[in-house]
Amino acid sequence: MNVHPRVLGLAAVGIIVLLSACGSGKAGASASVRPVIGVKIYDAAGPFDNLFREWRDLGVNTLFVSEALLKNADFRGLARTNGMPLFLIFPVFQNPEALKEEPGLAAVTAAGAPAREEWVEFVCPAREDYLSRRAGHLRDLVAEFSPDVVSLDFIRYFVFWEKVAPDRAPESLPQTCFCPVCLAGFEKEMGVRIPSELAATAEKAKWILETRAADWTEWKCRVIARAVERLAGAARQAKPGVKVNIHAVPWRKDDFGGAVRSIAGQDLARIAPYADFISPMCYHHMVRQSPAWVHDVVADLSAQTRVAILASTQVSEAYVEKTLAPGEFGAALEEALKPPSIGVVLWSWDALSKSPEKEEILKSSAGLKKKPR
Ligand SMILES: [Zn+2]
Repeated sequence: MNVHPRVLGLAAVGIIVLLSACGSGKAGASASVRPVIGVKIYDAAGPFDNLFREWRDLGVNTLFVSEALLKNADFRGLARTNGMPLFLIFPVFQNPEALKEEPGLAAVTAAGAPAREEWVEFVCPAREDYLSRRAGHLRDLVAEFSPDVVSLDFIRYFVFWEKVAPDRAPESLPQTCFCPVCLAGFEKEMGVRIPSELAATAEKAKWILETRAADWTEWKCRVIARAVERLAGAARQAKPGVKVNIHAVPWRKDDFGGAVRSIAGQDLARIAPYADFISPMCYHHMVRQSPAWVHDVVADLSAQTRVAILASTQVSEAYVEKTLAPGEFGAALEEALKPPSIGVVLWSWDALSKSPEKEEILKSSAGLKKKPR
């Protein structure tokens, strides 16, 4: 097979509209493929004609949308007529609404407390009843509204990675989930007996992390891979041709002592068989990295899997006071567009629409405008 796997991935998802004679070679080493230029949009009020006109003008060709927008028939119709594939952003374990109704679903920290930091509130990833409800909901959405891709977000263990800077001590990252369901599941599946004299959750967590750390990481990675398999299966049951994307924590394999597996439970090699794309959230500015880091993350993930990588970058500052200047936005965009990434997804449209200067930079990068010398 001589065709580049990334090109196959693109063709398979139906983004054939992206195949063109642009010839820049930007999106793949071996073919003239226009890169994916996507935006994440969560909320918008119709009519949407001007919005789609604006997107066409900017070179945007792919839309990552919330459930609410997917359900809007006018929006869906315009996406179809404009040939813009719809990725449904589907949050999995971040779910404050579910936790409000059923606090017992909360993931539990090593201190025995509900896993919560500001807006980040996670459901325990091992609850069969919860996962079954989420899978059923996803199946219904795909059956009724037929997105091109389901984009599984927050499909991992609790961690507010957006605030994790490069100098963060790995041992300070939050370990979860030590709820009774997880402790029992871990013991049974991994053949571990937690000493019966340990009564408090904090004592059990300490014992596990000190004496069974490798088994614990293995268990976490299995739980997340099973959740991916379950949700991807539910989506494909409703629509066999639907593709699956995974939002990945932007940590390279060895960052923070291998925290992408031991903290987040995201093991790419295990998750990839169920996915068509992996989309690392390379929001360099909030995690205090340079634009070049965006490509470093893509390259690291790409070395772990043959699945297509689609980098996501941030448009404006978040969680840090320093402004994300247009030039720095452009530099990160360029890094995101370097192969093997098949394009870029911008978080968020809301931020981009507020900056004409950044919109102009996007136009240049999308090849719609001659770049200034
Ligand atoms: Zn749990």
